[in-house]
Amino acid sequence: MAHRVTLITGDGIGREVIPAARQVVEATGIAIEWEEMLAGEMAVEMVGEAVPEDTIASIKRNKVAIKGPLTNLVARGWASPNVTLRSKLGLFAQVRRARYFDGVPSPYKGVDIIVVREATEDTFAGAEQKVGPDAAVALKFVTRATSEQVARFTMDYARRMGRRKVTVAHKANILKLTDGLFLESARRVAAEFPELEFNDRMIDNMCFQLVKAPLDYDVILAPNVYGDILADLAAGVAGSLGLGFGGNFGPEVALFEAVHGTAPDIAGRGIANPLGEILTASMMLNYLGETQAARAIEMAVAKVLREGKVLTGDLGGRATTAEMTAAIIAAL
Ligand code: NAD
Repeated sequence: MAHRVTLITGDGIGREVIPAARQVVEATGIAIEWEEMLAGEMAVEMVGEAVPEDTIASIKRNKVAIKGPLTNLVARGWASPNVTLRSKLGLFAQVRRARYFDGVPSPYKGVDIIVVREATEDTFAGAEQKVGPDAAVALKFVTRATSEQVARFTMDYARRMGRRKVTVAHKANILKLTDGLFLESARRVAAEFPELEFNDRMIDNMCFQLVKAPLDYDVILAPNVYGDILADLAAGVAGSLGLGFGGNFGPEVALFEAVHGTAPDIAGRGIANPLGEILTASMMLNYLGETQAARAIEMAVAKVLREGKVLTGDLGGRATTAEMTAAIIAAL
């Protein structure tokens, strides 16, 4: 029976990398019934809403979705479509993986870091307000329930992925109540997973460590904002933002997406690296239980990168998105 998956093309290079990922999935022979839905700038233009209710309903019904990046529309008076999706779907954990592949220009061979970011609280809850004409405050919001939930998700995910170590990134020395609660919750949950090594790092030291000794890190758990930043840092360390892949998880649904954004500087030119979204699709297939097809995609990506003949600009080559996609399909 075909899997039903909600597909959101998104904005910018989403229009290039989502069709690429879809083509690769279809080339594996796995039957998927795609339900195409709108979100982001394209949704505003077509139906006057950034995240239409029928998009939310489709994801809830299918329980699995894959999306391209969405333009942040806050400056144009809309709530962030990504934040809206996460809050409406209860997607409390965002997993972002930065994996080094042979052939990729990076001094850090062997890096394979999973960043799990708490995705609904912290200052990203968007509770900001003006204080008079020349000042503003943003509320940093942390609850024990969500902190424990994301910590348990992280430890469980680390165990299932055969990982050994979880590091919590925080600033609990200064933000004693909020980050302090996040760290305390993670420590409490870690006690239930004695087989995993557990430690913590201040966020500033974490950034230094990720550049100096990234191979010492395995799974990193962080509050929303630090996690967002660390995921891009880790992707850079592994070789390119264009290779980062991941998904958002909640109790009911999973929404898969690459780490990168809409890349307006290269959008529409057919030169975006599709591998982040293609690896994201492989992660989705794994989640759907299609482990063989998922593995075939991973191996095809590894092969094409190792050979180094077809590389997009971010990886030092000149291949187009279409050429890279065709190379992956040929290597399946
Ligand atoms: P970005 O990730 O879009 O781009 C950062 C840099 O990386 C750019 O130079 C871009 O060309 C390059 N890059 C990114 N992906 C690439 C790829 N696949 N291949 C080759 N090069 C790639 O970040 P930004 O410029 O800060 O953000 C642009 C827009 O995307 C903003 O509106 C932002 O809010 C949004 N955004 C959305 C998501 C999401 O929907 N998940 C994530 C991040 C940013």
